[in-house]
Amino acid sequence: MDRKRIEQIFAIWHKQNSHPKTELVFTNNYTLLVAVVLSAQSTDIGVNKATKELFKIADTPEKMLRLGEKNLKKYINTIGLYNGKAANIIALSESLVKNFNSEVPEDFNALISLAGVGQKTANVVLNCAFGHPTIAVDTHVFRVANRLGFVNETTVEKTELALMKAIPKKWQTHAHHWMILHGRYVCQARKPKCGECLIAEFCKSRQILG
Ligand code: SF4
Repeated sequence: MDRKRIEQIFAIWHKQNSHPKTELVFTNNYTLLVAVVLSAQSTDIGVNKATKELFKIADTPEKMLRLGEKNLKKYINTIGLYNGKAANIIALSESLVKNFNSEVPEDFNALISLAGVGQKTANVVLNCAFGHPTIAVDTHVFRVANRLGFVNETTVEKTELALMKAIPKKWQTHAHHWMILHGRYVCQARKPKCGECLIAEFCKSRQILG
């Protein structure tokens, strides 16, 4: 897709929602990190339900360690893969206390050194906590970017690299959220709502899907 069309799409998204935000609920950088770790292969709504009570009593690494893995599981047992996620949250909290002065680091390599934190989680945290222009590619971003024709890639990793090249700098900070929201509410996986899509005129998949 040429630069001009990409600009037009982002201008439409910007007009519709100038400050898009994650739908995960958090109170500080630590609770953001925990929420993003919990959200892997789970919905934001499900994570928010579980963390509503959890974050009242464990909103720092120290408090999470005092709560302990066994009790943590009681708060998050409605979330998929909660056993592994609980172990990761305890391990990453230990590492934050020991190696990072109990602060969430503003550095990609430091973030991916934490248990349960991969490329996507690190990019979401850098973007939402620190305003870095990272583009975390989840299932929605991958689908929307390739359907629209921003990029034409077969993997998440290649899609992220191609998006960083294709999307003009001025839109990169919010690009991840605009694409997630578009994928979640309009360009849905099985039944995209092409008839209500504000950017349909620019989309290469409209004829096939809509
Ligand atoms: S026109 Fe359809 S396929 Fe294209 S972005 Fe919009 S909803 Fe998705």
